[in-house]
Amino acid sequence: MLRSSVFVYGLLLACMTGIFQITPMEAQAQKKKKQRAATTSAAGVATRPEKNKNLPNIVILATGGTIAGAGASSVAAGYTAGKLPIEDLLSAVPEANKVANLEGEQVASVGSQAMTDSVWLKLAKRVNELLQSAEVDGVVITHGTDTQGETAFFLDLTVKSDKPVVLVGAMRSATAISADGPKNLYDAIVVAANKSSAGRGVLVAMNEEIFSGREVNKMNTTSTATFQAPNTGPLGYVFDGKVAWYHATLRKHTTQTIFDVSQVNELPKVDILYGYSNPDPTLVDCLVNNGTKGIVIAGVGNGNLYPTVETKVKQATAKGIVVVRAARVASGRVTLNGETNDKALGTIVSDDLNPEKARVLLQLSLLKTSDPATIQGYFFEY
Ligand code: ASP
Repeated sequence: MLRSSVFVYGLLLACMTGIFQITPMEAQAQKKKKQRAATTSAAGVATRPEKNKNLPNIVILATGGTIAGAGASSVAAGYTAGKLPIEDLLSAVPEANKVANLEGEQVASVGSQAMTDSVWLKLAKRVNELLQSAEVDGVVITHGTDTQGETAFFLDLTVKSDKPVVLVGAMRSATAISADGPKNLYDAIVVAANKSSAGRGVLVAMNEEIFSGREVNKMNTTSTATFQAPNTGPLGYVFDGKVAWYHATLRKHTTQTIFDVSQVNELPKVDILYGYSNPDPTLVDCLVNNGTKGIVIAGVGNGNLYPTVETKVKQATAKGIVVVRAARVASGRVTLNGETNDKALGTIVSDDLNPEKARVLLQLSLLKTSDPATIQGYFFEY
């Protein structure tokens, strides 16, 4: 009895004397949070100044990702993606209000590992709706980096406007020391606000580089310089608030494509099968039995298949399933009837699209046709 009273007394004393104080890291996170809240009311979208008629109007569509991630520590890696709302992201870059009139909209709040076809469709429809308005000059989409390349290519093929659309993300969460999100977001707004960005297809602005949505891939698991276009390099750079272009993509995009998702509510099921030595060929049967309409093979080398997988693929194409040979190799093209006999297998090739981008194009192609020859044409065109 005496012992427990002493313990309770000690606990009270400890609280009063501040023994149970928050750690310096927690204090810093709380301070940052307060700062963010203060700036939100001063410069965030909710209370932003009157529209400046001399500035372009840019809408920011937020989907989550590390750029909106928050963690308990500013120096450790652990965090949860998609925690902070768009207002908080914008309040971290008050300078952007001098570049454009900004409006924010939350479309989703997910880590992009959880990205779905339905969010893609929602995004494409919203971007198209916004860009039809004379009041909107461009769109920036904040997105997790894991699948940013796929979303960028999906939009590159389905946005029906020449106005700039720029995807952006971050490798460090918003609460991390030296977070890259605010600078990347500012740069993306600069790119979207710049008239010279029009007609270049959907873009990705990361780490001061600007990429084509078709070409860009995440190439490093943790580095802030993770985005690269291994086959073509960046289209340009954004630095010191200025945009400089060096290349343009020749593949058809946005207004030049035949893909219109305005009436589409579901995309065809397409799966990816990874190539490696001595694989289990019955994986092809699993996909076929699960109702897949298309298979992309991330083949070895020039998109080559293991012999027993080839046999299964031949059976699948005979059933009308469209099979695209891509490569697990990070760069280069997969060539038609190279080492693998596409004519005999009924397969087509991804050209220089990586497996996940080939999946995007195959999904959209299957909305139009399931004829392999026609779809092969799309893979050489888009
Ligand atoms: N897993 C996170 C995401 O893709 C990673 C990031 O955003 O960098 O949402």
